[in-house]
Amino acid sequence: MHEHIFFLGTGSGFSSLPNTSLLLNYKNSRVLIDFGFTGLKQLRTYRVSPDTIDALIITHMHSDHIGGIEMLAYILKFQYNRKLLLMFPHFEFKFMLWDALKNSMKYSAHGVMGMHDYFDTMIAYKTGKVTFLKFKSHSFTFIKTKHIPGMLSFGVLFSMNGKRVFYTSDMVFDPELLLFVNKKYTPSLIIHDCKTDSVEEGVHATYKQLASLPQKLKRKILLIHYDDNFNEFAPEKDGFIGFARTGGYIVP
Ligand SMILES: [Zn+2]
Repeated sequence: MHEHIFFLGTGSGFSSLPNTSLLLNYKNSRVLIDFGFTGLKQLRTYRVSPDTIDALIITHMHSDHIGGIEMLAYILKFQYNRKLLLMFPHFEFKFMLWDALKNSMKYSAHGVMGMHDYFDTMIAYKTGKVTFLKFKSHSFTFIKTKHIPGMLSFGVLFSMNGKRVFYTSDMVFDPELLLFVNKKYTPSLIIHDCKTDSVEEGVHATYKQLASLPQKLKRKILLIHYDDNFNEFAPEKDGFIGFARTGGYIVP
């Protein structure tokens, strides 16, 4: 089978759908992007052994993107005797994540534990306006996005089957950034978060806003991180690729 992106979850944090989580299935490795509080259940549903995960990228610190890390790390540590490799777009994430986890994770039957007991870490380095890291033969470029004022949040640009893919993670409607990424990196696929309901607007791009984008962009966009009412929309009719589906996959 070709290298592909498997969707462990495609919902927003407020929805009853599994949290948005991407499993990049490369020929030589498996890389997760985001792993929220439904992550472990989804791995089990799709019979993906935690031990087959080589690395996890975190885009920002909301629990629907990081809430599954604690249990995944415990399972790898205590059932498989190995650490989880975390790849951070920004050095501050390393400290913020351990701050969020340490009040439970530092206590164990084997004594007091530190972050290094559970995790290996890689931090992207700054190059121009973006940060970058390489894992095995795969390059990941992180582009700072606007999500919540004051909060660090990144989109991820990666390659698969020789094609570029941009995953926005959570961000507000930002056509300028999309046009910049499209021009500079020419992705063939853009996986964009998409708010379909009207709860807590102003932190995600809404369906209506995304529908106003030029057609040349929309035909590259697969919508993700949507809400329970997503069936009210017909994205193919509106010029998008469609909605990413939980348990589905796409070959870039
Ligand atoms: Zn978020």
